[in-house]
Parts: sequence; C-alpha cells; structure tokens
Amino acid sequence: MTSPNTGTTPKPATATRVLVLNSGSSSVKYQLLDMADGARLAVGLVERIGEETSRLVHTPLTGGAERRERTAPIADHRAALEAVAAELKADGTGLDSPELAAIGHRVVHGGLKFSAPTVITDEVLAEVERLVPVAPLHNPANITGIRTAQALRPDLPQVAVFDTAFHTTMPEYAARYAIDAETADAHRIRRYGFHGTSHAYVSRRTAQLLGKDPSEVNVIVLHLGNGASASAVAGGRCVDTSMGLTPLEGLVMGTRSGDIDPAVVFHLKRVAGMSDDEIDVLLNKKSGLVGLCGDNDMREIRRRIDEGGDQAAALAFDVYIHRLKKYIGAYYAVLGTVDAVAFTAGVGENAAPVRAAAVAGLEELGLAVDAGLNAVRSDEPRLISPEYARVAVAVVPTDEELEIAQQVYALVRSEAAVPGNRGPTGPAHD
Ligand code: ADP
Repeated sequence: MTSPNTGTTPKPATATRVLVLNSGSSSVKYQLLDMADGARLAVGLVERIGEETSRLVHTPLTGGAERRERTAPIADHRAALEAVAAELKADGTGLDSPELAAIGHRVVHGGLKFSAPTVITDEVLAEVERLVPVAPLHNPANITGIRTAQALRPDLPQVAVFDTAFHTTMPEYAARYAIDAETADAHRIRRYGFHGTSHAYVSRRTAQLLGKDPSEVNVIVLHLGNGASASAVAGGRCVDTSMGLTPLEGLVMGTRSGDIDPAVVFHLKRVAGMSDDEIDVLLNKKSGLVGLCGDNDMREIRRRIDEGGDQAAALAFDVYIHRLKKYIGAYYAVLGTVDAVAFTAGVGENAAPVRAAAVAGLEELGLAVDAGLNAVRSDEPRLISPEYARVAVAVVPTDEELEIAQQVYALVRSEAAVPGNRGPTGPAHD
C-alpha cells in the first residue's frame, strides 16, 4: 500500500457526495451521487483497461455538460481512476472537492466477516485478500480499485459494500452444503450468495410499494439480469438465496448453467476428457440460455420464438421459466407466507413474457399477473398483479449504486465511522 490508511477524518456537514466505484478486472464503472437529495451528478465507465482501445464514457448529469467519450490506451486501474478524476474535475466535482464525503467500493465477496458496509483499513483489505481463493475473478479487481482510490485520496473514508453482506443472515441450515463438515470448514465451502445489494434494495423498495415496513413483509426477490439469483426475504432479513459458494448455483442465467448434478463435472472430466479450465468455461460462459440456444439476450430469444417459432429458443425459454418457477415454489415454502414477489434487473424489469410465464398456474398460491399491467413499460416500481390476488407481484427496478451510496453515507455520517467499524445493519459473524 502506498500510504498507511489511518482511517477517517469526520467530514463537515456540507460533505454530502459519495463516489461509487465498481472495479472489474478490466473495467471501472462509477457514479457520483449527492446524498443530500439522492441526485446523480455523473455516471460513467472505463473499459478495456490495459488494452490499446481503452474507452472512457463520462456523462455529467447536472450543469448541462455533454456526454464525453474517448478511446485511447489506459494502462492500468490507477490511470483509469486518474482519467475519471480528471473528468469529474472538469465538471467542477473533482475528487479534491470538500463536498466529497466518501468513496464507496462494491466488493463482491465479503465471506462471513462482513455483514455490513465497512470502513476500509489495512486489516479489512487483508481480509478481502484472504477471500481471493473463493472469489478469484472478482476480489482481486476490487482490491486494485480500492488501493488506487486510497492512493488518490488517502485522507478520505473509503468504504466497502459487499455483495454477500445481505445474505449473512441466512440460517446455518440454508448456508450449509450437505458435504463432509471438516472439508467444508477447512476450505470455507458454504453458500454465500451474491447480488446482495440488489436484493436488499429491492426487498425494501417492495415493502415501501406495499405501504409497509420491511419488517412486516415476506418477499421473494427475483434478480434476473445476465447473472440471475432469487432470494427469500423474511421481515427484511435474507433467509435463503439461490447463488452459493460462487455465482454459478441456482437459476438458469445468460451464460451460466445454475443448478446441475455435480457428477456432471466428473463425467465431463472422465468421459468427455475435458480439463478443469474447460469445464469452468463451459459452465460459466457457454451454458444457460446461450448454451441452450446460442443467445443469452432475452429480447433476441423472444424475437426468435415470436417471429419464427424457433424450437431451440422456445426450449431455452421453457428451461429458464421452469427453474424460476421451482425457486418461487421453494421460497414460498421456506417463507410460509408471502406478501410479494418482486422482479428486477434487465430481464425482470423488461421482459413481460418472463414475468407472466413464471407465475402462470400459481393461482392456488395466490399469485397472478394482470396482462394489461404487465405490458406497461415504466422505470417506476409498480404492481402488476390483479387486485384480487393474495400475493402482490411487483416490478421494482434495482439501483445498486444508490443502495451502495446510501449505505456508505449512513456509515460515514454515523459515529461508527472509525477504522474497521461496521455499519448499523448488523453484527459481524466471525
Ligand atoms: P447484468 O448487470 O447482469 O449484466 P442486466 O441486469 O443489465 O445484466 O440485464 C441484462 C439482460 O437483460 C440482457 O442480457 C437481456 O437479456 C435483458 N434485457 C434487457 N432489456 C430487455 C428487454 N427489453 N426485454 C427483455 N430482456 C431484456
């Protein structure tokens, strides 16, 4: 680390802005939000970091400035963040602004230690590093993003918000795999779940839509993007989720298989002669919708079905819906009573046929979709179930950046903003 991170200086009440960074292996996505009113001041991304054709797209959302885009080599994450800082400075919202309260980092894997947003210290970073073996694709990039931001603003609170945090409330019997306990413990093999920031935001927003406190409702959240996961949320706490040790488990996704018999892996090795890496690529990148029909975009799959009666696309759609329905039924049973089923992310927010098919035939469970309401396109949270239905069906656009910014801001404004402390949402499980 370039400078010892000694933590935070309390910010003046005027410091209301939070920069949210989502650092991937070759990209950085960012948003600058003002938490005085939740307004987005700028959004952008840098992609293809380390290549000749790196691209930066920066969109200021206040002050009437134009969207800016350029393609030029950006060598590494440090150069990428410096380029982002320069763009923000040009808008008058630079990283040196006294109005910047904190930088929030999306961190994919927080293991069991982090159940709430956490001010990043050397110790916290070391723990995120210890989790690399269970999140080899994601945590290293997140760490690079954090180190780079710390180097640019060593005096500013940097806060980690973990994708796994919302799921740390799962009871042990939902988190455990039924495998040899010693082996599981030795290698930290258990179900962690992902997309937690989205499940937290959407379940809370759904309660709001029903005019209830999150503690009063049970919600099944279906986060259907290119990656997809379901969660069962009882009174605001996650009690089960479909992703596991890694994001491969659970629903059928754009390119991931979701649940399969684990013996398929041995079969691919012993009978098909595939290597571990080949199997990894097969299950993560060449399976799911793309594996079944060659397309992972639900728009294209629907077009192939609607226009040409394409059989492979129809089968892919049916497999996707069948799995979704099984999880709705399973989480209904886990929760006992359900107040709402909420659809979110790219497919959940936009694909009316997916929503209709997922709850078709579940009237006995109190679930139904009103065809007219389901067909309405909107960016607002909304109910699509008929009035008579016992269980509300909702479409709730997710907003992970807003959720991260809110959690970060709440933490840095609270007295808990001392190094290593966790936010107000719950105790850590050590
Ligand atoms: P992620 O963040 O996981 O990459 P998103 O939540 O942005 O994914 O979802 C992307 C997916 O959403 C696309 O792959 C596509 O299948 C689906 N999608 C986006 N818009 C529509 C639409 N209008 N109709 C159907 N599916 C859509």
